[in-house]
Amino acid sequence: MNDSQLSSALGSSEPLTPPLYTSAVYRLPDLDALDRILDGKETGFIYARDAHPNARRLAALLAEVEGAQWALTTSSGMAAISSLILANVESGRRIVASHRLYGRTTQLLQQELPRLGVQTSFVDISDLEETKKALQVPAALLFVETISNPLLRVADVPALARLAHEADCQLVVDNTFATPILVRPLEWGADYVMESVTKMIGGHSDVTLGMVCGNNDKRAELSQVSSMWGFSSSPLDCWLTERGLETLALRMKAASANAAALAEWLPNQTGVVRVVYPGCADHPDHELAARILSGGFGNMLCFDLAGGREAVNRFMHQAAGIPFSPSLGHTTTTCSHPGTTSHRYVDPAEKQRQGITDGLIRLSVGIEELSKIQDELEKGLSDV
Ligand code: PLP
Repeated sequence: MNDSQLSSALGSSEPLTPPLYTSAVYRLPDLDALDRILDGKETGFIYARDAHPNARRLAALLAEVEGAQWALTTSSGMAAISSLILANVESGRRIVASHRLYGRTTQLLQQELPRLGVQTSFVDISDLEETKKALQVPAALLFVETISNPLLRVADVPALARLAHEADCQLVVDNTFATPILVRPLEWGADYVMESVTKMIGGHSDVTLGMVCGNNDKRAELSQVSSMWGFSSSPLDCWLTERGLETLALRMKAASANAAALAEWLPNQTGVVRVVYPGCADHPDHELAARILSGGFGNMLCFDLAGGREAVNRFMHQAAGIPFSPSLGHTTTTCSHPGTTSHRYVDPAEKQRQGITDGLIRLSVGIEELSKIQDELEKGLSDV
């Protein structure tokens, strides 16, 4: 049975869950059909690196949840960042970026882009005057994270969008830690939003995927960059993400509620000397977070152990139910150690300046019963 026979055999029925199209290439009746697809006169697919049905479906769903006119999936969050940069910046241009970013993003800007003739100035984006000053030298992009990795500083997206636009620059927001459930940065004036879909949106630690979206006319250019540089997403990852997306709002709500409760509970536990959570009144961006985030303060939380690296190792051995797995957004609670994982290659002085200490543990809080997480944390903290 070929595909068209299968389609007619389905009659008026259709599968409730979407089909997975693993085909790398599509069969076409003749050259005229190929021309009609490439000229945009007819829908259809030719080669999966350029486009495939699972990416097309997922992109439409992601655009809706982000409040965007278009979205594009990529093979990872880093591919999303790379395609955004390659579509907007050429040799001789400049980027202004937050000095608090995921370590690999900082490395990309610091080590890879200079090889292509693109320089980046890093600024404290919480200091709007400093950011404004940095934008006085022409820059193509201002790059920030809505909630920064790992210490959860919150970006004043509307103010940063204003500053960027006054300087004829575009604001790119990495919304991975917040997800569109907490904030839709395009609505606050951002030009582009990217997400590491690998994390909360995928939600089950079984996909590596990224997304870029916007409300401008750059979709076709980004799609071309993504195809030519080989950043395209795989059908299976898109298919799995579609399932993850269905529960994103529920998961974020439940996980944020757990994180908020833990942020209150953790300061009273022995060995814990600092708790960082944007929902706490003592967080430096608490008021800003309350203004621009809706539906909670997120599922990410950090705490510091007085005993440093050795205490962290003991915690990891003792809290076996909170796996040390250096990612985030899993259904259940996991932990990571930014100093040796996501921010391993950040200059030690910069780490110290930001507060990424040897004792800092980053929790990605899950949706399990709060008491279960507390039990595990108690075990982990029993001898640190
Ligand atoms: N942005 C942030 C904030 C991240 O934490 C990560 C990965 O941890 C990325 C981007 C990169 O995403 P990916 O691992 O999907 O390439």
